[in-house]
Amino acid sequence: MAGRENPVISVIMPVYNEGEHIISSVGVVERILQENQIEYEFVLVDDGSKDDSWAKLRQMAEQNKRVTSLRLSRNFGKEAALCAGLDAASGDAVIVMDADLQDPPELIPEMVKYWKEEGYDVVEGVKSSRGKEGAVYKFCARSYYKILLKATGIDLRNASDYKLLDRKVVEAMQQMPEKVTFFRGMSAWVGFERKQVPFEVQPRVMGKTKWSLKRLAGLAFSSITSYTSAPLQLVTILGVVMFFVSLVLGAQTLARYLMGNALEGFTTVILLQLFIGSMLMISLGIIGMYLMKIYHEIKGRPRYLVSKKIKDGTAE
Ligand code: UDP
Ligand code: MG
Repeated sequence: MAGRENPVISVIMPVYNEGEHIISSVGVVERILQENQIEYEFVLVDDGSKDDSWAKLRQMAEQNKRVTSLRLSRNFGKEAALCAGLDAASGDAVIVMDADLQDPPELIPEMVKYWKEEGYDVVEGVKSSRGKEGAVYKFCARSYYKILLKATGIDLRNASDYKLLDRKVVEAMQQMPEKVTFFRGMSAWVGFERKQVPFEVQPRVMGKTKWSLKRLAGLAFSSITSYTSAPLQLVTILGVVMFFVSLVLGAQTLARYLMGNALEGFTTVILLQLFIGSMLMISLGIIGMYLMKIYHEIKGRPRYLVSKKIKDGTAE
């Protein structure tokens, strides 16, 4: 909890190609903060946008002392942009929200109240409906959360990145050394006093989503491998099960051979080859995913690179 009379909230927004609406969207959030007498600063992180987002972010930072704008040196992805925002924020608490107003800013006063008056360290927005999403997408999302819950015990169903975090939670997350980060997973892993507030996902103000199925699948695999080694144990279990199956099949084959009526034809051989081959490849793939993870982490490269920063109206 903040000791100050009027604590400062840092509103962090990752921005990627949101140029057409970012000024008005920040305006909407700013109005809500002012109407509720919340002390605030904005930390806007341009994640290597290809449109005029940076020009807009620079303009806002130059005209408004409460806006700090960062530009990453290229598109690092939302997770890295969030890290950059957390590192640049100086408030007593931070609120992380999407730039497209899909996370309704009307919820901010309530979130701040839970933090300020009831002493919660993490106030997390939970999707009460998942907005407009296709049936296939919904199915994939559901299965992914189920696997993650089963394997790690971390329940991210309906979780979102829309959260208020106390400074000490931000500091705890900054101590986590991994280079490939997963904001939702990390903010759940750290624990602390948590409060959930449900919200309805709003339609995007303008523009379109940046998440392709490929990117989402990548995030899903990376988050599962980050939080559990269960898939590796699965490989061992698979091996043991197949060993017992092969004992039975082997005994049967041998018995038939000795009795003089060995199987003819290659059908069984082909089927077994195909089955074992694919199991081996899947297993190698799982091990490969963890190797890749270790490889990426061991390189120890920075999570993001900042190419431009405007704070207090001037470039740093
Ligand atoms: N975003 C980002 N870097 C990226 C992709 C997205 O910073 O590479 C930002 C984007 O500007 C937005 C937030 O992440 O503020 C959520 O992205 P989007 O709205 O495209 O995702 P969705 O809401 O559809 O899940
Ligand atoms: Mg969105």
